[in-house]
Amino acid sequence: AFDENMKVWMDGEFLALKDAKISILSHVVHYGSAVFEGIRCYETENGPAVFRLKEHVKRLFESAKIYKMDIPFTQEEIFDAIIETIKVNNLKSCYIRPITYRGFGELGVNPLNCPVNTTIAVWEWGAYIGEEEMKQGANIGISTWRKPAPDTLPVLAKAGANYMNSQLANLEAREHGYDEAIMLDYQGHVAEGSGENIFIVENGKIVTPDLGSSILQGITRDSIITIAKDLGYKVSEEVISRERLYLADEVFFTGSAAEVTPIRAIDNRQIGIGSRGPLTKELQEKYFDVVNGKTEDIHNWLTYLE
Ligand code: PMP
Repeated sequence: AFDENMKVWMDGEFLALKDAKISILSHVVHYGSAVFEGIRCYETENGPAVFRLKEHVKRLFESAKIYKMDIPFTQEEIFDAIIETIKVNNLKSCYIRPITYRGFGELGVNPLNCPVNTTIAVWEWGAYIGEEEMKQGANIGISTWRKPAPDTLPVLAKAGANYMNSQLANLEAREHGYDEAIMLDYQGHVAEGSGENIFIVENGKIVTPDLGSSILQGITRDSIITIAKDLGYKVSEEVISRERLYLADEVFFTGSAAEVTPIRAIDNRQIGIGSRGPLTKELQEKYFDVVNGKTEDIHNWLTYLE
């Protein structure tokens, strides 16, 4: 239930959501021609702060570059527009969705005869998988749908069309009674969730799939690797086989929406203690301390609104 009067930034101007419309004949509607970001703004003692905004804007532009979409704004302009959008909507904490898409022009597959439009929307959004799952862990199934091979759809682009693949995995998982899916890559190695990166803990060591495993280069993934190393843990990026998930002491998801979500079971096998593991809890708490501005921002990850 979105407020139809909330302000949406569209190509440089603010419109009420009910007026922020595009044509049904836009290229994006027919061919999925969009790249987007998912970002969070958190309430802190010093006002709202956006987490890793610069990195998210950079990734939006990189996704656009892969698809030869020329965004007619600079990264600084989009950065500032995001801050303005939160301010005009008077939100203390929110989820932020900038999206760049091919608009209304011609309808052949050739994408170059359509304008490149950009919209920014913000809204309040709680725990992505669930409040209870953040404490007790989520129940996950491995999907029969795999991530696209590297020469099919580029996974480093956060593109709308990639989420058709994610939707198949998510639908299947829900049909089987799971909260979310884990997908394997084209070779059968562990890749990621439908909208999350994945980590495992083995004998006190933290392991996550490497970039060769058809994963999105998650900004939360990078944050957790950095936080874990700051805490003195060993982190390695590896090719991970499916069965290592079952045998891991702990498994958790990361994502801007999912934050740090523990996993308690995979394919009906209990993981570790069958609830949030101790290292997951430590990293989750540390992550929330960082995003909520409760600990010193040593990596300069927060952009305060005021
Ligand atoms: N993988 C996929 C497929 C995703 O959709 C997301 C969410 N953007 C992630 C990983 C996590 O990325 P990030 O931490 O940058 O949100």
